[in-house]
Amino acid sequence: MLTKDECKTALPKRLLTLTGASLEEASAADKYAALASLVRDYIGQSWVDTTRRYDNQRQKQVYYFSIEFLPGRLLDTNLRNLDIREVWREALAELGIDYTELTNAEQDAGLGNGGLGRLAACFLDSLASLGLPGHGCGIRYTYGLFEQAIVDGMQVEKPDTWLKELNIWEYRKAGKAVLVKFGPPLGGVKAVPYDIPVIGFDNRTVNTLRLWSAEVRDGFNVNYSSFGPDDYRKLLEYKSWVESISQILYPDDRYEEGRQLRLVQEYFLVSAGLQSIVRHIKRKQGPDLSHLADQIAIHINDTHPALAIPELMRILMDEEGLGWDKAWDITTHTISYTNHTVLPEALEKWPVGQIQSLLPRIYEIIHEINERFCAQLWQRYPGDWGRIAAMAVIGDCFVKMAHLAIVGSHSVNGVAELHSQILQSDLFSRFYQHTPQKFNNKTNGITHRRWLLSANPGLAGLITDTIGPGWLQRPNDLEKLLPFAADTAFQQKLAAVKQERKEALANYIFNKYRLALDPHSLFDVQVKRIHAYKRQLLNALRIMELYQRLKANPGLDILPRTFIFAGKAAPGYYLAKKIIQLIVTLSKQINNDTAIQDKLKVIFLENYNVSLAERIIPAADISEQISTAGKEASGTGNMKFMMNGAITVGTLDGANVEIREAVGDENIVIFGLTAGETAACYQTGRCNPLTIYNQDERVRNCVNQLIDGSLPVFGDEFRPLYDYLLHPGGAFLELQDFAAYLEAQTRIDRLFHDNPARWQAAATNIARSGRFSSDRTITEYANGIWHIHP
Ligand SMILES: *Cc1c(COP(=O)(O)O)cnc(C)c1O
Repeated sequence: MLTKDECKTALPKRLLTLTGASLEEASAADKYAALASLVRDYIGQSWVDTTRRYDNQRQKQVYYFSIEFLPGRLLDTNLRNLDIREVWREALAELGIDYTELTNAEQDAGLGNGGLGRLAACFLDSLASLGLPGHGCGIRYTYGLFEQAIVDGMQVEKPDTWLKELNIWEYRKAGKAVLVKFGPPLGGVKAVPYDIPVIGFDNRTVNTLRLWSAEVRDGFNVNYSSFGPDDYRKLLEYKSWVESISQILYPDDRYEEGRQLRLVQEYFLVSAGLQSIVRHIKRKQGPDLSHLADQIAIHINDTHPALAIPELMRILMDEEGLGWDKAWDITTHTISYTNHTVLPEALEKWPVGQIQSLLPRIYEIIHEINERFCAQLWQRYPGDWGRIAAMAVIGDCFVKMAHLAIVGSHSVNGVAELHSQILQSDLFSRFYQHTPQKFNNKTNGITHRRWLLSANPGLAGLITDTIGPGWLQRPNDLEKLLPFAADTAFQQKLAAVKQERKEALANYIFNKYRLALDPHSLFDVQVKRIHAYKRQLLNALRIMELYQRLKANPGLDILPRTFIFAGKAAPGYYLAKKIIQLIVTLSKQINNDTAIQDKLKVIFLENYNVSLAERIIPAADISEQISTAGKEASGTGNMKFMMNGAITVGTLDGANVEIREAVGDENIVIFGLTAGETAACYQTGRCNPLTIYNQDERVRNCVNQLIDGSLPVFGDEFRPLYDYLLHPGGAFLELQDFAAYLEAQTRIDRLFHDNPARWQAAATNIARSGRFSSDRTITEYANGIWHIHP
């Protein structure tokens, strides 16, 4: 460990060797690079030691396969987990360098769309921090999720060139490359791993996130004697095809397009990952793989890596010479699967022909899996064709990836109690009847180290001053705050911390957008991917309602509110883009209206990502979690807000249900139809939005504004939203829940008018947030599914 003075000399030295710049002339990015490069020096030994320890003790290890990882920035996390943050902070201060400016110079690693990728990143943090042998396996996309700008009120996408600068955290392991084989005429692709250390919190554990990059295989077509123009063309074609594999992350969240290249990516990921794992096991523990399921666990995050099932079968049979039954036994005991969604458009299915031509051997194996599974069903349910057809892995000329994942794994879990219930009673009910023992729930979590300790140091400091530092290791200790929830002195400190975060966010917004916000207004926040089922449109409608009410009666006694939105829409998702346009239009209209005396402001912040989330969430008073009940599998944004003392306004959906159980009805504002009621709506078709439109004048006024020229746009820009809302059976029940949502707002107003009640609620939310730490989630996975130990 370096002392402060050593740090002070080390940094300018490294700066010079790395960037050729002196301290005076170096940019923040240069200084970031120099410090990050110094941090690498601390990691190496623990990393090697951890790997050796796992191998020597023959510990069972888990590999978490995910097509997305969304870690965000790493420097601050790594400094903190290595327990060298304070010494460096002081050294930097004495060198006249602003710590935050330096850490903010890091590019986000944005290799994910949203919740699913962020969950994977939280899980890696918890695995390492709990000292568990668990690693990530993903793709090193050259371009992460696009950067979003708003131009003329509309989303514009720009490529995320995160690898333009040197990525300090990755270690290219050229010697560990493997060959991934596709069917003729494509042939093989070289997969090169880039390893990123995942550092545990103050425990000398360093696990690995291994990201694979596609490269042209060695010696391809280099036949100098006969290298004609045709060979040259073929070489170029092959090269550009190979390079496209790990080029871009598909920007669709909860939507599957069935694109060929995506299938290529999925196989590339699982084949490279499994080959390297099997090779490692054989090298360290001998060639006999019959106990593989005791040596490793493979977890697939949603169905994108579900080809791991036939690929592991292929390796065990074709390369290791095992028979079908033995290989199947090993595979199903090794693999476990998490489902993330019940939305039909998000469930993966691939045309048989596509898999067959791209991966002929893999298709043969899937076909055999299906034959055997159907034969087994026939034995158990003789003559029940309907049931068997509904459960088959292959049907209507498609391979159903969720069915493959269930059949080929020993554990299937949902990500919140309600979601797991819906899987068992609805989406996968037949599979549940067939193999109930496979099904379980693992409610999602978030790492309290990033989302509280790092994102909100002021609050973390207050907590530690109040109850001591034990909560860092044992997040359930946050409950020790409960006795202080009603304590006036504590409430005042909590209010001061929140105020400070709100002012910081207001400053950021002013500097970037030249919009002045009242930091004493309520910050009412909805930040997440823009999606119809998440119902940003419902939020926009109630802002329109409130604005009209205020216009009609400027003296209306309301607490001033600032509505903050952020989130990306998939580039091809027309409706979501219209919703962004509506919000931006409302912000233009409302922010410039002096008649309402600055009581309302609306802002849409560009380019929502992990770093922006870290700025926004600590500053929130109100957390909007208003998805149609039954549609949001869990949500994790809801947990981040709760942990930072925001009050949730939410539907009984996903983990909101468990947040309510944790905090009690007086500390959360719940509204709207339940999952049972929304399901009944969809089934009976009786919830016609027109009925509500005709009955409720407030609904009619707001919806009409979309098309009657009240909004400051040319032409019929928002007609599509109008049609969507009134289309029978099409919408996500925005109008059905509208009145209940307005009523919820009056409850929120009442709560925030009562200062002690409000801060007691905030404190209770923080105190009860420990169960939503991903440390709890990962402990449950480790004990219940993977059977791994610290
Ligand atoms: C937590 C997080 C999400 C998930 O948010 P939900 O509200 O659960 O949809 C998405 N994107 C980013 C950047 C996040 O940090």
